[in-house]
Amino acid sequence: MAVKKMGLKQKYAHLTRGLDWETSYQKMDDVFPYDQFEGIKITDWSKWEDPFRLTMDAYWKFQAEKERKLYAVIDAFAQNNGQLNVSDARYINVLKLFLTGVSPLEYQAHRGFAFTGRHMRGVGPRIAAQMQSLDELRHFQTQAHTISHYNKFFDGIAEFQHMHDRVWYLSVPKSFFDDARAAGPFEFMIAIGFAFEYVLTNLLFVPFMSGAAYNGDMSTVTFGFSAQSDESRHMTLGIEVIKFLLEQHPDNLPIVQKWVDKWFWRGFKVLGLVAMMMDYMLPKKVMSWKEAWEIYFTEAGGSLFTDLERYGLKVPKYADVATEMAEHISHQNWAVFYQYTHAAAFHTWTPDKEHLDWLSEKYPNTFDKYYRPRWEMWAKMDEEGKRFYNMALPQLCQTCQIPMAYTEPGDPTQIAFRCTEWNGEMYHFCSDGCKDIFDDEPEKYAQSWLPVHQIFQGNCGGPTVPDVLNWYRLNVGADNMDYVGSPDEQVWNSWKGKAPAEAAE
Ligand code: FE
Ligand code: ZN
Repeated sequence: MAVKKMGLKQKYAHLTRGLDWETSYQKMDDVFPYDQFEGIKITDWSKWEDPFRLTMDAYWKFQAEKERKLYAVIDAFAQNNGQLNVSDARYINVLKLFLTGVSPLEYQAHRGFAFTGRHMRGVGPRIAAQMQSLDELRHFQTQAHTISHYNKFFDGIAEFQHMHDRVWYLSVPKSFFDDARAAGPFEFMIAIGFAFEYVLTNLLFVPFMSGAAYNGDMSTVTFGFSAQSDESRHMTLGIEVIKFLLEQHPDNLPIVQKWVDKWFWRGFKVLGLVAMMMDYMLPKKVMSWKEAWEIYFTEAGGSLFTDLERYGLKVPKYADVATEMAEHISHQNWAVFYQYTHAAAFHTWTPDKEHLDWLSEKYPNTFDKYYRPRWEMWAKMDEEGKRFYNMALPQLCQTCQIPMAYTEPGDPTQIAFRCTEWNGEMYHFCSDGCKDIFDDEPEKYAQSWLPVHQIFQGNCGGPTVPDVLNWYRLNVGADNMDYVGSPDEQVWNSWKGKAPAEAAE
């Protein structure tokens, strides 16, 4: 008896629409308690267009194939001592930042999409969110496995999960995802599915992966490729969510616009870490942050928002401020980490002359005027044996949690500073974007776990710097301080047969 084969579309319809049902013992509102309080109106869930049609059996088959390839590369990399082929040991600090700051967000995305996949009343988006949840768990695992090879040779990697929850600068990416996961399911989808995966993801993954390729790190390139095909599914889901919400009801537009504005700004702030990575941490540079911003936000984002105009959606508020900041953000961030490397789990260093020349060329309007003199001064102090470490704890922005080191739009000589009084307390912000987010939901952001406040309140292991570093599980003298003189530098020089003096440029 011949069984007629079903097409993919038909199979997928059975998987999604076919397996759904209306509850009878319990009210639908009790089963789905979270999909209405945000004010989003869905009139017809069946209008959801499945952004990709992938049945579970096909999904497992594709993913298993990708895993086989990835783990073959990782094995070969380890057996051939691939770490010897990277451009320079300074590069490893990029991986430390990625593993402590980004990989745990993959795990947060896994949890967030699992939650969303449970709490949407429509079965199409529910299945899509569950599949993305599985992808994200895989991303976390493959990243941890790939980078574990470097943990055998370099410092600052072993305690990445512990550090993600405690170390001051990791509170920036952590709080970003905590914020998204503490929102309702629709806001989560706009925050992560649209603003992050669709609008900003190329600014995160392309720089890291091409940075890895340029600097000889083939194992990281491979996990990047392995995540790429998932990424295109996630982007399709992100754009479908926004179109669906805007088509369902006109009342959704102002809510969605507010979320787009908010999550664009939150994402832009977190991406400051990528900006610094591109301009300062890659021994072999790919392109400047400013160039990446022009390509992936100004051009690609510009045409996206032109496309979305027909729904009434506008370019995110403060996009112009973010574009102006593209001139400054990497220099200001590296300056913060440079001063506070004694409390960080990766190394920083003073850019050498060739590097400064590259920055002068890439930032002709601003670098020589505002930033080069400072690096030259710090280099001189370093030569005199007075490498600058800042011993005072900085004030943090209540929303993005970044030290208040950013400058006024249009005036890079003036620190930007905003504040709001709420419920008898004063709150501080790095920008209008961060202040707006607080002012819209003060009861949420008044609860922010701000690392500096927590240290002063005695919640981080004790009152002294060694107490706090111990609480971070930071291996003092190995994980932290300047690259020059570090055990990382020593091991690299011993492999390359260089004497320390010769290597110290
Ligand atoms: Fe991911
Ligand atoms: Zn801020």
